[in-house]
Amino acid sequence: MIVMKFDAGSIGSHDRLRAVARLVQQHKARKPVVVTSALPKVTDLLLEAADLAAGRQSDYEDRVQEVKALHEQVASDLLPDGPGRRRFANHLEERIEELRILYKAVYALAELTPRTRDAIAAVGERLSSELVAEALSQQGLRAETIDARTVILTDDVFGAASPLMDEIAPRLKLKMKPMLGTGQVPVIGGYMGATREGVTTTLGRGGADATAAVIGTLLDAEEIQIWGEVDAFMTVDPKLAPDALAIPRVSPDEAAELAYFGTKVLHPAMIRPAVDKGIPVRIGDTREPGAPGTLITTSADLGPSGPCAVVCRKGITVILLSQPRMLMATGFLRQMFEIFERHDTPIDLIATSEVSISVTVDDVEHLAEIKADLSRLGEVRILRENAIVSLVGRGFFRYQGLSRRIFEALSDVNVVMISFAASDVNISVLVAEADAERAVHSLHREFFYKSAEEPSAEEKSNQKASGGRKSPKSGSHPR
Ligand code: ASP
Ligand code: MG
Repeated sequence: MIVMKFDAGSIGSHDRLRAVARLVQQHKARKPVVVTSALPKVTDLLLEAADLAAGRQSDYEDRVQEVKALHEQVASDLLPDGPGRRRFANHLEERIEELRILYKAVYALAELTPRTRDAIAAVGERLSSELVAEALSQQGLRAETIDARTVILTDDVFGAASPLMDEIAPRLKLKMKPMLGTGQVPVIGGYMGATREGVTTTLGRGGADATAAVIGTLLDAEEIQIWGEVDAFMTVDPKLAPDALAIPRVSPDEAAELAYFGTKVLHPAMIRPAVDKGIPVRIGDTREPGAPGTLITTSADLGPSGPCAVVCRKGITVILLSQPRMLMATGFLRQMFEIFERHDTPIDLIATSEVSISVTVDDVEHLAEIKADLSRLGEVRILRENAIVSLVGRGFFRYQGLSRRIFEALSDVNVVMISFAASDVNISVLVAEADAERAVHSLHREFFYKSAEEPSAEEKSNQKASGGRKSPKSGSHPR
């Protein structure tokens, strides 16, 4: 079996839904289980309305109307007059009534508990799963919804509940397995579950991916597919460089690095159970369903080690601290880190020399206080408007010639800071924001577009180390 999870964007209109239905149809022989997100904007609207009601603002009702109208629009575009459309209309009516009761209670008590928030938020996926099931039926599939709350049992940490794998496994076997055996397509709302007592919970924002991973892991899926309306993993942000290439395969560590740098495809922690069990997770773009997408895998066929992407993060501030007396002193770093901790500011890159330390931060809310406190330790300088440019990949420690190629590519860019040996999967340089795009282009060209004439000695050695794969031809990803 396979799991096919669809994000909000890919089910947000009747034609997107039809495309999704065709896609599921194409995979029918692989026994798909379909996991859905709420329709676009719906989770936000539901939660906004909850906050408004808790603040005694009666315009929460506008949000409820909007949620209703969004679903009505898609349903009337998608479903012809007939039993399917009526079924969904009734379902919608009931859910909206249920929401009104919940919001009225929140309004009356002027109190919104995490438990109530979850009951409200889960309505988005309860609605979308019914709609997706109707879209699949339209396509001639035998689709059947399963209420996630009868299967995805969780602890009672409302708003960030953890699935109870031992409880879920037998329920999936009892409910889903037989359906798959008879050619039915189970459709289940992601993001939500229930406690053992049957109280509705949610797994946290973006949690539909987690539902897909849990189901795929427990049913030993051949593959978990996360379909979105997103640019999948690319060698560079296509907005920065039109010659970006899709990355065919990444390791989970690379996926995590890329997620930090804004590839907002999925949260790596969400797919952890699947990755740990060695189940491949494929990221696909519903706007381009024929493309292979990106496979997140731990398997040996990951391809040669080396860079997989160049990423960039702007708006970085550098804080330099120097203190000649630091020479051979102990405890200095601790004192410095304590200051950042006290002001709740995470540090990203760090570089040290004998008597000075540079760190970068994203968050400058408490910069003035940090500066004041640091001044007691030494001389402080602040550099604003910088960017971190990183090369992400695998096996960097053993990849010969990497530093030479990076520095050559950046020969006309002023590099302010370097973070080299902290990990096997990332090398970062800090440059002025104004130089960032040039640095990104140069690195991208160096590692992904260099014409493969005669490979250098070190390239030959890398190829040998990685199983004899050729170095990339212009315009093809080395994996
Ligand atoms: N609808 C939920 C959210 O927006 C869950 C998801 O889409 O993954 O966070
Ligand atoms: Mg998502």
